[in-house]
Amino acid sequence: MRFPHTPARWLQPLPGLIAALFALLFAGFLLVTRGETEQLRTAQLEQDMLWQKQAIEQQAEANREALLALAATLPGQDYTAPPFQARVLTLIQTNPEIVGLAIHNGGDRARWTAPQARHTQPFDGNTGWGSLKIVEGQPLVTYTTVTPDHGNYIVATIALDVMLQHQVPWWLGQRYQISLLGPNGKTIAAKNQRQFDPADQAYTIRLDRPPLGLTLVARAYNTPRALLADLLPWLLFILAGAMLASTWALRRHIRKREVTEAQLRSETALRLAMENSLVTGLRATDLDGRILHVNRGYCDMTGYSAEELGGLVPPFPYWPPEEIERCQAASDAILAGRLDPNGFSVRFMKKSGERFDVRLYASKLIDGDGKHIGWMNAMYDITELRRERKALQASHERFVTVLNGLDAAVAVSDTESGELLMSNLQFDRAFGLPDWRGRCCIVPFVKRRTEPPVDAEWYDIFSKRWYQIKSRQSVWVDGSAVWLEIATDITALKTAAERERRQNETLQQTARLISMGEMASSLAHELNQPLGAIASYASGCRNILGSPDPNLKQLAQALDKMAEQAKRAGQIIRGIREFVQRRAPSRKRCEIGTLLDTVLGLLGHEIVRRDADVSLQQSTDLPSLYADPVMLEQVIFNLIKNALEAMDATPPARRALAISLERDGEYLRVTIADRGPGLSPEQLEQLFKPFFTTKDTGMGMGLNICRSIIEHHQGRMWVEANPGGGSRFIFTVPFSEEPNAIEP
Ligand code: ADP
Repeated sequence: MRFPHTPARWLQPLPGLIAALFALLFAGFLLVTRGETEQLRTAQLEQDMLWQKQAIEQQAEANREALLALAATLPGQDYTAPPFQARVLTLIQTNPEIVGLAIHNGGDRARWTAPQARHTQPFDGNTGWGSLKIVEGQPLVTYTTVTPDHGNYIVATIALDVMLQHQVPWWLGQRYQISLLGPNGKTIAAKNQRQFDPADQAYTIRLDRPPLGLTLVARAYNTPRALLADLLPWLLFILAGAMLASTWALRRHIRKREVTEAQLRSETALRLAMENSLVTGLRATDLDGRILHVNRGYCDMTGYSAEELGGLVPPFPYWPPEEIERCQAASDAILAGRLDPNGFSVRFMKKSGERFDVRLYASKLIDGDGKHIGWMNAMYDITELRRERKALQASHERFVTVLNGLDAAVAVSDTESGELLMSNLQFDRAFGLPDWRGRCCIVPFVKRRTEPPVDAEWYDIFSKRWYQIKSRQSVWVDGSAVWLEIATDITALKTAAERERRQNETLQQTARLISMGEMASSLAHELNQPLGAIASYASGCRNILGSPDPNLKQLAQALDKMAEQAKRAGQIIRGIREFVQRRAPSRKRCEIGTLLDTVLGLLGHEIVRRDADVSLQQSTDLPSLYADPVMLEQVIFNLIKNALEAMDATPPARRALAISLERDGEYLRVTIADRGPGLSPEQLEQLFKPFFTTKDTGMGMGLNICRSIIEHHQGRMWVEANPGGGSRFIFTVPFSEEPNAIEP
């Protein structure tokens, strides 16, 4: 939109300045001229008054001369003579101020009075001008003259107000109020042609000539012209002020308009920019569906220009032929005012023929007066959205498929409420959750939660299955804290482990049986000793009893010895039984020294038979162990037996078996070193594997079982070369008495 160009900024205050300058100049001019006019007026007044004074004085003088002349023409007593009468008449007629004329002959009474005169003053005996008298409000003055023969006196009464009326010309009367003041300063006559304005100035002039003591006063009228002249500067000033004010107001208005226009311009530009930057298509139609306006988005979407679309009515060119009906239905619905708040989904066609899906929203187009003038349509291209939704759906399906294909049960639940937010098929199957799980369901193993992350085994008493549960705290899609739990069914593993444990136990027992079998001859020899002793004590007893005087004391001693030997035999048998007995591991407090003694007791004959030199090195401060003593005995038994067997090929002089018991921090460290052939790298690799043996009668399980037992006790077992030849087997077991370190 274009706006008329506004004048340059510096031009704007010019009219105001010119007006102000004009007003100032004019006011100055008026003030100057007004001063001059005032002076002129005063001079004029003075001049006028001088003239007026002169006129009145001259008239009085003229009256006097006329009366003197009249007196000169009065012959004797003949004042009735027609020529005299005619002269009197002429005098009175030409001098209206002469209001009385009487002829006296020296007495009080007038002898003749002019019939035309209204006032006649009495004769006071003097000639010349008399004094001023006010008779019935009229200022009167007399002039008395004497005839040449001194027989008669002519007394003329002159009315000063009449004189004033006649002597003040009209043009002077227009300008001034002329009044006469008596000797006492009071106004005796005035010529008032107009209403008098007392505010104006006065001019006073005394009359120099008779009648004496009179003063002439003039007061100028405030003529309309003068008033106008007075007011004109003010009017002009006000006018200029008003002009200035109006220019100022105009300027302010222009400024405001400029600001508003600038705002409007930027707002229009902004709206246009906003409208054009919208990816939404906007279309305005009239009530018949005729396109009034489309924005750039609409053009971009359809591929038609605004000019091409303007003025078109349905069906529009961007309706695809196969969708005409649907488009028409949507268009009809909009024009009929059936507006769906969710909009209409339709398919449109670009000018190029390409189809695209849109969602159309319609609303009423209301003009500034609130009149419904058409329809406003917003159009969104939802092709990409649909594609994305489909892709999202597919991705979701893939995710669900993968999740449901997992063997593990997966669940996500709210940390606070325990509400199950998501679960896979396996989870639902395994934990048989009812349909209402979506609303609120506590995951069965929720009680297992402690501090994250949690890895635990859990036995579900309902399904009678074992689960390995991995729990992790995580953040859900809505930002809330959740538990992500993966439960893997480990029942099969557990069963296998149990089976293996049992097998292991059996194996251990078998191994012990085998060991015992191998040692059978030694054991037989061992048992033989007490049994032989018992037999010899028995025969000794028999001999004592056969004597005539049996020595009972000796008998009792022999019997005691017998019992002792029987006890020892019993101990040996109990030891063997305990060793070979199949039993579950049981821990108790035990001393390593005692265990070693038991083993050495069992192997005593083997050591002697092989002529091995056994040495023991032991720290003094070894604490007790919390372990299964029989198991540890078996470990030591195996290691010593292996060491002895390894030294079979060693010359007897070198057959040294060194046992050391020492403290290694929190662990007991047991080393059994021999001078056998040592171990090749291949052997080292195979050594602890089950069924690895180099012996003809060996089972190859001994070391494997030993390591299991040690690891079961949270210890370690390894082998290394014995410096100086042979090998040494080392194992550690913790001294810890904490029962929680080992599962019961
Ligand atoms: P077995 O004694 O029944 O063979 P073991 O597991 O106890 O089973 O031992 C496995 C193999 O390890 C033995 O056959 C032997 O070859 C080797 N072996 C064990 N102890 C020693 C040792 N102290 N010195 C050399 N070789 C040994």
